[in-house]
Amino acid sequence: MKTIIEPFRIKSVEPIRMTTAADRDAILQRADFNLFLVHGQDVIIDLLTDSGVTAMSSEQWAGVMRGDESYAGSESFYRLKGVITDLMGFEHFMPTHQGRASERILFDLIGGRNKVIPNNAHFDTTRANVEHTGAEAVNLAIPEASRPRERHPFKGNMNVAALEALIAKVGPERIPLVMVTITNNTSGGQPVSMENLRAVRAVCDRFRIPLFLDACRFAENAWFVRTREPGYADRSPREIVREMFSLADGATISAKKDGLVNIGGLLLIRDPDLFKRASNLLILTEGFVTYGGLAGRDLEAMAQGLIEVVEEDYLGYRIRSTEYLGEKLLSAGISIIEPPGGHAIYIDAAHFASHIPAEHFPGQAVVCGLYRAAGIRSCEIGSVMAGPHMRPSMELVRLALPRRMYTQSHFDYVAEACAEVYAQRKELRGMRIIEAPPVLRHFTARFAEI
Ligand SMILES: *Cc1c(COP(=O)(O)O)cnc(C)c1O
Repeated sequence: MKTIIEPFRIKSVEPIRMTTAADRDAILQRADFNLFLVHGQDVIIDLLTDSGVTAMSSEQWAGVMRGDESYAGSESFYRLKGVITDLMGFEHFMPTHQGRASERILFDLIGGRNKVIPNNAHFDTTRANVEHTGAEAVNLAIPEASRPRERHPFKGNMNVAALEALIAKVGPERIPLVMVTITNNTSGGQPVSMENLRAVRAVCDRFRIPLFLDACRFAENAWFVRTREPGYADRSPREIVREMFSLADGATISAKKDGLVNIGGLLLIRDPDLFKRASNLLILTEGFVTYGGLAGRDLEAMAQGLIEVVEEDYLGYRIRSTEYLGEKLLSAGISIIEPPGGHAIYIDAAHFASHIPAEHFPGQAVVCGLYRAAGIRSCEIGSVMAGPHMRPSMELVRLALPRRMYTQSHFDYVAEACAEVYAQRKELRGMRIIEAPPVLRHFTARFAEI
């Protein structure tokens, strides 16, 4: 069979409130054309993010009921520990409330003025936490990453030659660790190959620098390795995940992605001394070491999520869904970042709304156009998000796909809506900002149509 169906059936449903174009027009006006200010109830298909919006399985919900809420030594913690040791091969880990809490603890300990952190591409909270300590965050993506239509199987790879050049320039003593983000969110959910990870590891070994993963989408990365990297076709996702983590000295993880939960994070550290110091910080701001700011039920749901996320049927369906939506947009003539990544499709808004110049926010115009036409919520990643002092290299609109939440007919609807708006793209109007805060303006800025 060519059709890859959703490998689950539905036991509990959440109604979608259908709105009319007239309703949505009024809603958009009230929200001053900022979709972050629209209520979830007023959205038909919500593709704002893939973070924390996963549908949990019946086993995860059963785990929620079983959760042990003991302050110290919760059974749910030990269940999670068993799963992590088995899947990732780490003895020492701590739960945190989400990925950025892990980042804050790690960079508090190893960052600081004069330090430099290389990454294939820092995610925005990672960069913010690095810079908050006074350290410098350096992105070392391969050149293909910034060419939207160039197909490369592992467009998330780190530029190893650039890493060596950076180490030669600043000196290994100023680099407390090298970080690799799998998959590379910033460049479009693009994977990193095992070969590249091994090459980065070899450089780290040469200079005795630890290697950490930002492993939010480790399972999606493993699936790409299996399907695209020579020698991995017969390996299970679990084996590939194990191999990926065997190359690392630690990892920060937002479990809101491949942990298949609505809240939670992890910090994995091999070095016992660094782990001890991190535990002390965890206790200071997150919670005791066996819960780290989460409830026992959250730990239980995460443990089960980490088991389900590496199932072959799940990953095959997950990556195919994203690719399916990408193919439909391409066949409608819409330009996207190619090839489609793991968790999102990125529309090239400069091409989609080519009559709108960057200073009139073509991405925001497309976001509003999709909402008005079909109640779809997407996210601008372009001149609005970059802020007034930066010129982004691309004007993008991200359609992020929540895990296990929507079916193929929902994606057909999204593709049809995108094609429809694209056919009438000349009607999209540019935007101007009427009010915005000085930083992170995309969350609260108010717009008017030109
Ligand atoms: C989401 C994300 C984070 C931050 O995690 P939160 O749970 O949102 O704090 C860090 N890195 C990457 C690559 C992410 O996608």
